Amino acid sequence: MSFDSSNPCFECGQCCQKLRVSFYHGEIASDSSDLAGTPSTGIVPPELTVKLTPHLACMRGTEAGKDGCVALSHDEKDGYRCTIYEQRPSPCRAFNIFEEDGSLNPLCDKLRKAAGLKSVLAQG
Ligand code: SF4
Ligand code: SF4
Repeated sequence: MSFDSSNPCFECGQCCQKLRVSFYHGEIASDSSDLAGTPSTGIVPPELTVKLTPHLACMRGTEAGKDGCVALSHDEKDGYRCTIYEQRPSPCRAFNIFEEDGSLNPLCDKLRKAAGLKSVLAQG
């Protein structure tokens, strides 16, 4: 493994490939304002999103929850990386290896095992 192995996500990237990443459309960057004239606070690049319903969007590529997000990159040197890390939507910010109480995120663990990767607790 040639990339930084201190972060298990760099060898994994499964949550960006096997889940539908959907969120409120207001998270998408826009030049528009709401009816009260409040400017949009969205930050997610619109060209990387797909509209699902009038109020719901998802990251392009994750519509069916079985293909990779278009913002995910992978190479031998760096492993898996989010190319819009600072502009990623809320579900990406909320999904972590560990829960807020410090316990292992069971879905993360399940995704890793399905991909043939060790549990992060088994890594030394
Ligand atoms: S499934 Fe878990 S280990 Fe893999 S990239 Fe997502 S958060 Fe990281
Ligand atoms: S926006 Fe980034 S963190 Fe979120 S699914 Fe896509 S690649 Fe993963």
